[in-house]
Amino acid sequence: MNYHVVPHQPQKGRRKMDRDALVSEFCELVQIDSLSRHEAAFAEVIVGKMAELGLEARRDGAAARIDGDCDNLIFRVPASADGYPVIMINSHLDTVGDDTGIQPVVEGDEVRSAGDTILGADAKAGLTIMLAALRKLDADNLPHGELVVVFTVAEEVGLVGARALDFQMLQPRPEIAYVLDGGITPGEMTTQAPYADKIEFEVRGKAAHAGVEPEKGINSIQIAAEAIAQMKLGRLDDECTANIGKIEGGTATNIVPELTQFQGEARSHQEEKLVAQSRHMSQMVEEAAAERGATVESERERSYNGFALGPDDLVVQRGMAAAQQVGLEPRLNKGGGGSDANIFNEHGIPSVIVATGAHRPHTTDELLHIPSMVQCFEWLVAILTTD
Ligand SMILES: [Zn+2]
Repeated sequence: MNYHVVPHQPQKGRRKMDRDALVSEFCELVQIDSLSRHEAAFAEVIVGKMAELGLEARRDGAAARIDGDCDNLIFRVPASADGYPVIMINSHLDTVGDDTGIQPVVEGDEVRSAGDTILGADAKAGLTIMLAALRKLDADNLPHGELVVVFTVAEEVGLVGARALDFQMLQPRPEIAYVLDGGITPGEMTTQAPYADKIEFEVRGKAAHAGVEPEKGINSIQIAAEAIAQMKLGRLDDECTANIGKIEGGTATNIVPELTQFQGEARSHQEEKLVAQSRHMSQMVEEAAAERGATVESERERSYNGFALGPDDLVVQRGMAAAQQVGLEPRLNKGGGGSDANIFNEHGIPSVIVATGAHRPHTTDELLHIPSMVQCFEWLVAILTTD
């Protein structure tokens, strides 16, 4: 395996207790279903756990805006000491896909799902770590600044909850944010993420009987095929990718197909490169259509904006210092996808994604590496309390 665990054993007994508590709460959380836009029952469990810490949920009304059953939840933890930045911590309440009835199985240092489902460590490992860290701050009276805790809904269906988040309700205004939705390696932060566009094309040719008078038709499937064959797709360079992922057209084998629709995406860490790639894809379709007298309608939508933070940014600096403090090697990583951190960065809150011990998300092989989760928990405590 290619993950990396730094041996570090501060107080053995203490750590065993932390480990047992984290595993037990994690298993509790993954057994409660929380599909995207249907997080309400699960959210109430989280609200109850936060209430035990004296923290009261504020609900931002997002449910109505996104056609879900649950709002984003916002909590404010008052500072216990001066001189700290206002830190936001976040993870998402929903799990990917439509798997329900998840049964966790603990085996040695790993938790996996018992059946043919995901585990839901994405992002319930993050939620577990957040709850444990807040409890530790409280129980051990650790010094920390103002904290804003945000649990978002409907992340897995396109960052829908974060997009609908009422940012006015983030009080006080967070200066930096840590999104607990990362991978397995303790100390690793995703500090860069790409910009992404979604593109849809509709090629309209002309229908005709394929056997009787094909010369009167314009074959939209053929035009789409020619256009796609001309497109630069796949990994275009070290910071740019593109894909056509869905195509649909025609009605029967004996009819020249009038209408073909297809959809794709492009991603790049450089916005200009993304714009150029999206334009290139459109141009290939327009040229292929023009050559055969067909028409094209295309629609391009920005899925999310990217971000690029570095060691000079406070959020990264603090994350690195805290990692070192608990004996972890800080690592900065370039992400290939979107997360709620994209949306927070877009709203001017410098945000990074931090590791949680979760591995192989969105698959039935998903697992939680327990020692990594424990280290990520210690790391988050250090992020919140280091001065
Ligand atoms: Zn996630």
